[in-house]
Amino acid sequence: CLASTEGHQPSTRKDDLLIHGLSEKIVGVLGGGQLGRMLCQAASEMAIKVAVLDPLESCPASAIAYDHVVGSFHDSATVEEFAKRCEILTIEIEHVDAATLEKLEQDGVDCQPKASTVRIIQDKYLQKVHFSRHGIPLPEFMQIDDLEGAKRAGDLFGYPLMVKSKRLAYDGRGNAVAKTAEDLSSAVAVLGGFERGLYVEKWAPFIKELAVIVARGRDNSVLCYPVIETIHKENICHIVKAPASIPWKIQRQATDIAYKAVSSLEGAGVFAIELFLTRDGQVLLNEVAPRPHNSGHHTIESCYTSQYEQHLRAVIGLPLGDPSMKTPAAIMYNILGEEEGERGFRLAHQLIGRALSIKGAAIHWYDKPEMRKQRKMGHITIVGSSLGNVEAQLNALLSEEGRDCQ
Ligand code: ATP
Ligand code: MG
Ligand code: MG
Repeated sequence: CLASTEGHQPSTRKDDLLIHGLSEKIVGVLGGGQLGRMLCQAASEMAIKVAVLDPLESCPASAIAYDHVVGSFHDSATVEEFAKRCEILTIEIEHVDAATLEKLEQDGVDCQPKASTVRIIQDKYLQKVHFSRHGIPLPEFMQIDDLEGAKRAGDLFGYPLMVKSKRLAYDGRGNAVAKTAEDLSSAVAVLGGFERGLYVEKWAPFIKELAVIVARGRDNSVLCYPVIETIHKENICHIVKAPASIPWKIQRQATDIAYKAVSSLEGAGVFAIELFLTRDGQVLLNEVAPRPHNSGHHTIESCYTSQYEQHLRAVIGLPLGDPSMKTPAAIMYNILGEEEGERGFRLAHQLIGRALSIKGAAIHWYDKPEMRKQRKMGHITIVGSSLGNVEAQLNALLSEEGRDCQ
């Protein structure tokens, strides 16, 4: 038996597949938040080894990762050291040091997706420039460097005007709306001033927000998940409905844009494409995440291959799995922190307690050590026979809690 002669050393033999797990390669993930945790969960089902790099000792992925290195994914030396332990390097957050990834790639480290993709995506302005150059429809946008420039943009695009930080944006932290020209200076101040690097976007008069998860394998095979609808509250993803109830033509348009956007980027993995659907039937790109995404949580219960399993398959080079839905409908509800501290935990646990007795509901709790307002603490996915059915189930759950589903 080869395994016994080789002890516990990882082997590079071609017939490993027959002897050991699906892959002997250690997949290193920069970031150990909830997305990293769910990647580890998918990995454990296939006996794939996932190591995470995260500064928080008790980060969500730490309890189930094959290995957790406590350290910053912003720090070049730490990332380089971490990369030595892994055969493939991937991300669960795009706000990592792109220059280090570029250097590692030059040294032969296998980064998926590629460092060039991370560099483009992590700067939302650069991202917009990139996608517009590739002919992808998106809201008009413009860099702003001073108040005069912001006013010129306001004159051009009208109000309300969306002011955004170029970098380090997530959950709407990095967005400020100026309702009139008088609001511009406070919007800029809220975002930390022009030194932060700001740009503006023309207001997208959307009737729905849509998203498509796209997977690309190392062999460049591409598969798209069904188009879903996201409902945001105060700029944070609140509810996801799968599939989106939209005409076939819009589904086609959304999928085509998502495919085109991913085709313009390099590397394997799953990508999430956030879109706006306007009243006049236009589909515009909002932004792309080069990793598993909140809008794809539902795929764990509702699709043949979850986005997490798919990401691992893609970066390792295994064949991609079937992205289609195995249930007619699913709805995902993000459990966001309502209050700080103990009271916040109590409120979330009450909701979970009730969800436990709902047919078709699956509960995900990320085990974050601290409760903060608007922080993503967990989610609930309900699968069922129709969108009407799962929406009704969620409404019943939330109305008893005094919340609402819209
Ligand atoms: P995420 O957590 O998805 O990374 P983010 O902080 O990067 O969020 P965006 O996706 O840019 O923020 O914006 C958050 C939400 O704000 C969008 O989902 C949408 O509801 C709203 N929004 C963003 N841009 C515009 C726009 N140009 N016009 C109207 N609404 C917008
Ligand atoms: Mg974003
Ligand atoms: Mg977004």
